[in-house]
Amino acid sequence: MEEAEAKALFRKLKIRTLLDLALLLPSSYEDTRLSPRIEAGKTQTFEAEVTDRQIRGGRMQVRFRLPALGRQITGQFFKATPYHQRLFEPGSRHVIHGKVTLYNHWPQIAQPRSLKEYGRILPRYKSALKESEIRALIGTYVTERNLYAEGLESREVQLLMRRHFPDEYAGAGELSATPAGEELERLKFIEAFNHLKKLRSKRREFPALKALKASPKPFIDKLPFTLTEDQRHVIEAIRLDLAREERAARRMIIGDVGSGKTMVILAAATMAGKERAILMAPTSILAQQLYEEACKHLPEELETALVMQGRMEGDYREADFIIGTHALLYLEDLPEAALVMVDEQHRFGTRQRAMLEALVSQGERRPHYLQFSATPIPRTQAMMESELIDVSLITQTPFEKTIHSRVIGRSDFPELLKHIESELEQEHQVLIVYPLVEESEEIPYQSIDEARGFWEKRFEGVYVTHGRDKNKEEVLLEFRERGRILLATTVIEVGISLPRLSTVVIVGAERLGLATLHQLRGRVGRNGLESWCFLYSHQPDNERLTKFCRTRSGFEIACLDLAYRNSGDIVDGTIQSGQKFRWLDLAEDEAIIAEARARLGAKVPIEGEL
Ligand code: ADP
Ligand code: MG
Repeated sequence: MEEAEAKALFRKLKIRTLLDLALLLPSSYEDTRLSPRIEAGKTQTFEAEVTDRQIRGGRMQVRFRLPALGRQITGQFFKATPYHQRLFEPGSRHVIHGKVTLYNHWPQIAQPRSLKEYGRILPRYKSALKESEIRALIGTYVTERNLYAEGLESREVQLLMRRHFPDEYAGAGELSATPAGEELERLKFIEAFNHLKKLRSKRREFPALKALKASPKPFIDKLPFTLTEDQRHVIEAIRLDLAREERAARRMIIGDVGSGKTMVILAAATMAGKERAILMAPTSILAQQLYEEACKHLPEELETALVMQGRMEGDYREADFIIGTHALLYLEDLPEAALVMVDEQHRFGTRQRAMLEALVSQGERRPHYLQFSATPIPRTQAMMESELIDVSLITQTPFEKTIHSRVIGRSDFPELLKHIESELEQEHQVLIVYPLVEESEEIPYQSIDEARGFWEKRFEGVYVTHGRDKNKEEVLLEFRERGRILLATTVIEVGISLPRLSTVVIVGAERLGLATLHQLRGRVGRNGLESWCFLYSHQPDNERLTKFCRTRSGFEIACLDLAYRNSGDIVDGTIQSGQKFRWLDLAEDEAIIAEARARLGAKVPIEGEL
């Protein structure tokens, strides 16, 4: 086959690699080897001679003699065309093929075919190509040699060859359309291996603007607490990243809300020292919080500036550490920085992300780039992504939070009210999350508009905000100081810290993804305050919610989320850019992915690093 032709076919199949092709397994097999005996229920092939036939209406019934077996069998044609009538003339000889059934103990085949070629097992492919095209393509490229050259081992090569060329490779009789057991395991492996290889080939590396070698130790030693092991490991990984000049760092640091990422950010800023660092946050509240933390903990010789729309602190043109919102991206005289960081990376819009990407993608030499995210992803997914950029996970939190999580229903409402009253008496705050602002017929829960009257009549200090609320940041800041109950939609996801918040009630919880529930629950108990998370649902025995209540680890929840999505239980329809695999299951197959990474020769990671 010509290479240009093959390329066109690859495009038509929407595949890129040899292993993509090899993984397009036949969807079924046609066994045209002569059967030694009649077996009802199987698709069989026999040499046969027509002894007689009856045609009535459109129907034709053909009696065959099977000389090799000394038996007879009937062929049924429900719509016998003239072609069929000519083909199955009495006395004619055939090799017939079809599924054998019993009718009053008498074997018969409905619509038997008369084969010209037989004695083989033919793979059948379902693809965008013609059967002959895909056979030719696979015949040309899927060879033992090519598969070994891709890095597969003997049992994987043999498996693929057996599946594509059942005739030439032993054990053909046992091929079922759906692989299982060891075979399924190896297919998962090949799929993972192929995917990792593709990601790795996309990885681009650039020299850094500067090697950053200032020590974070003085900063760490002066902190009023000791860092967690995870924090220290991540800082060490970053230290090694930044000290290199040949390669600009590209690292994603993922840790639950409250896992102490700010200290890691500040440690990185001290390593950049006078070579300058920029930190971008998704909201002004967050930028401000980060600025305050920086002023509190960073050594005095590092000048820090804050840049937000409508507010500036310090002079960013002179500062060593510039903190800001996306307003930073619009400055014309933003100085070049050797280190660029983004906090709560997952909260930026696509456009801002693109602008950020542009900021760190100019020139031959690039700044070191660290992204921080509070959206835990399953370890398996993180392992995959680490082929593209380096990934560190922070799974510990500095102090144990006590959060009681419970699914509640209508009948629990009076008790919930009592709980809220008692929390408010202790100067604690309560957040109630509604699915919508306005009433809707589609959702069997109250909206903010419907519910607010009830709360406002009964309690003081009720605040309301939602996603489209232009003043939401102000409302949140005011609520933080003076409020008692906050009614909101999931907007509250934005990482503002509300230290007195002890209770969150999520109305219609079964409608939300576990990741969202996890983010919402992360709002309470920020300072170790004993806290409660109530999932209000008309389905109080919802299994997904019950399981959610049993774990607090964002990484476990991400895995749960994945498992439920795989099982089709998608509630809010927000499937994230999940790679679809045919056999591999990201919720379960960590060991296989680890094996594939090892085969590819993964580097030796620092603890917590993938
Ligand atoms: P994240 O950004 O990961 O959600 P933060 O950095 O805001 O978390 O940290 C949450 C809280 O924990 C902050 O009040 C911070 O000062 C505190 N903190 C961070 N690291 C430690 C630590 N090692 N020991 C005690 N408290 C810590
Ligand atoms: Mg943070």
